[in-house]
Amino acid sequence: MTDAAPQPVFLKDYTPFGFLVDQVELNVHLHPTATRVRAKIAFRPNPAARDRRFFLHGEDLTLISAAIDGTPVTPEITPEGLSCPVPEAPFTWEAEVEIAPAENTALEGLYMSNGMYCTQCEAEGFRKITFYPDRPDVMAPFRVRIDGDLPVLLSNGNPVAQGAGWAEWNDPWPKPSYLFALVAGELVATSDRFTTSEGREVALNVWVRPADQGKADYALDSLIRSMKWDEEVYGRAYDLDVFNIVAVDDFNMGAMENKGLNVFNSRYVLASPETATDRDYENIERIIAHEYFHNWTGDRITCRDWFQLSLKEGLTVFRDSQFSADMRSAAVKRIEDVMTLRARQFREDNGPLAHPVRPESYAEINNFYTATVYEKGAEVIGMLRRLVGPEGYARALDLYFARHDGQACTIEDWLQVFEEATGRDLTRFKRWYSQAGTPRVKVTEDFKDGTYTLHLEQKTPPTPGQDEKLPQVIPLALGLLSPNGDEVLPTTVIELTEARQEAVFEGLAAKPVPSLLRGFSAPVILERDSTPEERAFLLAHDTDPFNKWEAGRSLAREVLIAMVTEDAAPAPAWLDALAAVVRDEALDPAFRALALRLPGEDELAEALADRGAVPDPLAIHAARERVKTAVARHLDPLWAGLYAQMACPGPYSPGAADAGRRALRLAALGYMARLDGGARAQAHFSAADNMTDEIGALSVLLETGGADEALDRFARRWGHDRLVMDKWFGLQATLAAPERAVAVTRALTEHADFTWKNPNRFRAVIGGFSANAAGFHDASGAGYDLVADWLIRLDAVNPQTAARMSTAFETWARYDEGRREKAQAALERIAAREGLSRDMGEMVGRLLAAGRIAA
Ligand code: ZN
Repeated sequence: MTDAAPQPVFLKDYTPFGFLVDQVELNVHLHPTATRVRAKIAFRPNPAARDRRFFLHGEDLTLISAAIDGTPVTPEITPEGLSCPVPEAPFTWEAEVEIAPAENTALEGLYMSNGMYCTQCEAEGFRKITFYPDRPDVMAPFRVRIDGDLPVLLSNGNPVAQGAGWAEWNDPWPKPSYLFALVAGELVATSDRFTTSEGREVALNVWVRPADQGKADYALDSLIRSMKWDEEVYGRAYDLDVFNIVAVDDFNMGAMENKGLNVFNSRYVLASPETATDRDYENIERIIAHEYFHNWTGDRITCRDWFQLSLKEGLTVFRDSQFSADMRSAAVKRIEDVMTLRARQFREDNGPLAHPVRPESYAEINNFYTATVYEKGAEVIGMLRRLVGPEGYARALDLYFARHDGQACTIEDWLQVFEEATGRDLTRFKRWYSQAGTPRVKVTEDFKDGTYTLHLEQKTPPTPGQDEKLPQVIPLALGLLSPNGDEVLPTTVIELTEARQEAVFEGLAAKPVPSLLRGFSAPVILERDSTPEERAFLLAHDTDPFNKWEAGRSLAREVLIAMVTEDAAPAPAWLDALAAVVRDEALDPAFRALALRLPGEDELAEALADRGAVPDPLAIHAARERVKTAVARHLDPLWAGLYAQMACPGPYSPGAADAGRRALRLAALGYMARLDGGARAQAHFSAADNMTDEIGALSVLLETGGADEALDRFARRWGHDRLVMDKWFGLQATLAAPERAVAVTRALTEHADFTWKNPNRFRAVIGGFSANAAGFHDASGAGYDLVADWLIRLDAVNPQTAARMSTAFETWARYDEGRREKAQAALERIAAREGLSRDMGEMVGRLLAAGRIAA
């Protein structure tokens, strides 16, 4: 490790800040390399605090002047901030600092992207703009004046006044500094109006660069639907006169919920049928909703400290999932959410980076914007809702908003409103916030004299720093089917609270087939011996759409595992059951497309490791290829008909119905290509009039070979469009055959358009390659070295994104000794770098420590 081992912060050490802030006034005079920020801040002693030391965070700031109540002061300055003696009564702090946004490549604080100024302050970026108590429990109204010779000057809240080269904004809602935002640029708006349920007239604008004009309609439409939905479902109305959204090309994350001024990665705003896929449209709708919903769950009610991050993120993900389910197919949304949860969160929970939904310590908070805090946090709320019922949930949320509006809260506050509104004791349920790791629920059963008994056992494996686990409260939704396929017990929820428990069902005529964990009612791994016939039965008869899909998925997983370990042929029971689903016109095409998607290579590696085997990435890749070909052959009679039938007549629409048809059609195209050498995929590519079909066909060609010409044509056609070219870069790295993947990826990094300082482009290539399991885990170690080299390079420029990408190494400890040695060497090479960021230092430290234990 580096000798600058990052110092952790602990949840247990929380103390309130010694002062309250009554008002912030900022004056920002923009200049690429010499922006001046003048701050005038009204402080007053905090009666709830004992520690009255006056410390303001500040990083990379040049202090020009500072004064208290008009008298110049000379504070003591460190790399983290400043301290200064202050009066014991209310006082006014004034400071002027200079910063250089054009030199800010970390994309945190005030920075420049394509000639525009923008900010990213969550989690701790405001301290790079001015000296301030940069912590979420310090909330204040902000008034901002911007001077700069750009036509559009934006900040939070309502516009106050403006003239040539300046604008003034006032945000009346007290907020923490992480929600501050400022944008300046040559921008054009797509606009509309919205009248809230409270009668407020709101001006809505989506700001983009002039070249992107015309690509903001879907984002705006999604915003309006989100506003309406939050009024109807949660009773939450918007609270300012304007709502601005800005699309930015260089952005570390997806988007940011700054009060009244959401800033977005342009990939989650810009869309046209020619340039955006169905998935892009879906993501835009979801993320626009997510950031908008933060206005109440995040902005009006925020977090006391960053350990409480899931208070806003878990809840807001849960809310955006409900929204997407309402806008589209609830069943398909649930299946997709669970696929993501398993691919990202289960992987995290099962590896060296496992941590609870509410972590107890961190060195760099940016490293904790994780699948666990977001997605598992959302699952925990879903379980809570299932346990207390929709009415109880609604009462608890009403109480939450009524009681905590304007406050910075904790997970305890959140659970308290549920206890009060529903009378339920949540002491044991709270363990979901403090225990890391995915619980295993083991199920055995017996049947005698019409009585069916389920024996249930739960156990959570140890995770780094947590050896002992206690039983959790697990809502297990289940139904029972009779052998002829009738449902004899509709969905019922059993609450597991103990390590071992039984559930008894009486008066059954025959031994039933259980449908367990319906709707994926808890983020757990179900362990139960089951036959392929039983799974095929559930795939055919289950009334719960999630479990119907799950039955097929687990069958496919077993088939693939058997092919890896025993070189078996795919079970006919599975192929026939799959054919029946694909043929079933009563089923949603989107669902049928999902049924045709095989478990990914990483999921299979995980499943193998779980059974005590050492996964071989190449064998997994090969088995998956063979299964795809077997499916292609077995279902051959269906493909051509499906392909013809699923064509979408009329102009492109991003709605769920057409998107589902396109997904099923492209799935058919993919399987057909294994039989016709890709002829139809070539034709599909040439004829495509939307990006879903164009990129869909290109993916098929990349997987089955013969994509070279299509790739060239695509690059000639789209070379000018960054977002489209991200797809071109990403697909090649992700889909390259194992033996070529390192070379292909290296060539991509040498491409003139590999603008690696742009996070989207870096993610496309390096992230895309990391997702190519067989390529990344190349036995030579060349994949590890390639990624390590790029992480080192990016870390010097943008620590936040570099550290996030280091999760490529999350699973290294599960492989064979040769691979482990090489991965460990690559990680140690990163760790040994001089000047490594705190972000990356913490990540490689954690990745190495737990891996060494496992080794
Ligand atoms: Zn969020």
